[in-house]
Amino acid sequence: ALSDPLTGLFNRRYFEETIDQEWLRASQDKTPMSLLMLDLDHFKQVNDNYGHPVGDDVLCAMARMMTDNLRHCDLIGRIGGEEFAVFAPGIKQTAAQALGDLLASGVHHVEPFSRNVIHVTASVGAFWTTDVVDTTTVLRKADRALYQAKAAGRAQTVWHDPAADGSEP
Ligand code: GH3
Ligand code: MG
Ligand code: MG
Repeated sequence: ALSDPLTGLFNRRYFEETIDQEWLRASQDKTPMSLLMLDLDHFKQVNDNYGHPVGDDVLCAMARMMTDNLRHCDLIGRIGGEEFAVFAPGIKQTAAQALGDLLASGVHHVEPFSRNVIHVTASVGAFWTTDVVDTTTVLRKADRALYQAKAAGRAQTVWHDPAADGSEP
């Protein structure tokens, strides 16, 4: 299976396998590339307040928002329960920042019965490079930045800090 049955996005395994190949191909000619990793904020509260099926609807709404706003060449994966990742080749760092900000703004979903508007934001960890890098390392760097976005108050994009690499476990 290549896709996640709930959202139709690529699943983690396929996402990782594909960006492995894409990094390699694009980095040979110094194409800039960005990887954004995102985790929805306080998502447990959505399930607690509205129920798991509504939580699923919000995940689908987020997946649709991402698909609608990204380019055809961008790769979008659902890499965990309420975690997504975007691989964006050929993108300037300023454009990646704008993309991160858009994703961090999240989605508004109208709950069909109560008509309540559920707004869910995302924390985004971002990485950008023109070098040859391996996927595992990139995902780890983006994940660290994502953790920092959570710690800094959520609903924002935080860039991977190269200065922090030396202290990585
Ligand atoms: P944080 O801002 O720190 O990320 O808070 P959070 O509540 O999003 O984080 P936490 O990891 O505590 O909870 C993630 C929640 O996502 C818990 C789990 O029930 C929910 N979740 C994971 N996968 C799914 C899914 O497929 N469907 C639904 N409805 N909920 C899911
Ligand atoms: Mg999570
Ligand atoms: Mg979360």
